[in-house]
Amino acid sequence: MAETLDFLSLQPATRLVHAGTIRSQHGETSEALYMTQGYVYESAEAAEARFKGDTEGYIYSRFSNPTVAMFEQRMVALEEGAEAAFATATGMAAVTTALMGQLRAGDHIVSAKALFGSCRFVVEEHLPRFGIESTLVEGSDLSQWEAAVRPNTKVFFLETPTNPTLDVYDIPAIAAIAKKYNIALTIDNVFATPLLQSPLGLGADCVVYSATKHIDGQGRCLGGVILGSKEFIKDNVQTIMRQTGPSISPFNAWVLLKGLETLPLRLDKQTSNALSIATYLSKNPKIALTIYPFLSSHPQYTLAKRQMKSGGTVITFEIHGGKEAAFKVANTLRIIKISNNLGDAKSLICHPSTSTHHRFTEEQRVDMGIRPGMLRLSAGIEAVEDLIRDLERALETV
Ligand SMILES: *Cc1c(COP(=O)(O)O)cnc(C)c1O
Repeated sequence: MAETLDFLSLQPATRLVHAGTIRSQHGETSEALYMTQGYVYESAEAAEARFKGDTEGYIYSRFSNPTVAMFEQRMVALEEGAEAAFATATGMAAVTTALMGQLRAGDHIVSAKALFGSCRFVVEEHLPRFGIESTLVEGSDLSQWEAAVRPNTKVFFLETPTNPTLDVYDIPAIAAIAKKYNIALTIDNVFATPLLQSPLGLGADCVVYSATKHIDGQGRCLGGVILGSKEFIKDNVQTIMRQTGPSISPFNAWVLLKGLETLPLRLDKQTSNALSIATYLSKNPKIALTIYPFLSSHPQYTLAKRQMKSGGTVITFEIHGGKEAAFKVANTLRIIKISNNLGDAKSLICHPSTSTHHRFTEEQRVDMGIRPGMLRLSAGIEAVEDLIRDLERALETV
């Protein structure tokens, strides 16, 4: 039996605990985990009616599954402007499926060049292999988006804030250029999360997530989601999802569904920790540069304040002394762990130029603003005094 609450009248924190729940005949409190590939029918006629779409129900878990459906419906209830969703096995499956579903040979995509490493690989290397041309632009320069438009441009793609330099791009302004040329805008909203920024409400057509990050938030499993209007999902995502099979395991969907219940609590703590750490770092003479969207020194501070509800959970900073100093600090930290994941309950730090962005040339990295002394810190939910003391101790060594 589906819940009958009117979710739109409720706050996100309430929706995230209750929305999408499908209770079985047992009336369980916690959402059930349906580990099943397929479904049995009462009769051959019932199977026929299900396949024809005359009756509602599940056919095969590559198409849909009750646990996966609960996760998808909870995401729809959370994401402003979304009417439909498909969950995927990973964030990259969400990005690739969303882009492949919208594009065909002969089309053109324009993307901001500051992208998560694998996303940039998909846009620059994989799509062109299938006859889809791509152009990379400086995302903060609106004139570059417009100048890159060709008659066959079908998709604009970007992430904001970007990884790892936390540039903030103007979603409504880029959406307006897209609308003018009848181009669909897809946004990778991982760094902001659905609670801090609503791309569909700001004019985008499609939003994708790596649920591996804040939505799980406890380092357990991979996952992804694609969201949009009913029409967008039906026209661009449904067929490719069903037939190519990037579907999520019901087990992982269940973990993510439970993760959503505590997302607002974790995010509140992580963002307040991130702001305190950013403020501390920005006053430390060992630090050459502190980047955080809600610090007034951020180049797009006003835009960030307008477009985001808070500055997010990630801080990027550059230490005087280059790679050697950055490594020394990372190696001296005790509480903050070295890991390339983000959005976790545990505070994590990574050195982008030798990990997430190692495959680029030094010249490309400089072009993206990634310097050897830079570290990216994902704030966890620990007591902030302990995190700052950990950083203080580590910074004393350089
Ligand atoms: C992690 C990440 C992805 C990829 O997600 P996976 O779940 O690792 O496949 C895509 N975009 C951004 C911005 C990410 O941080």
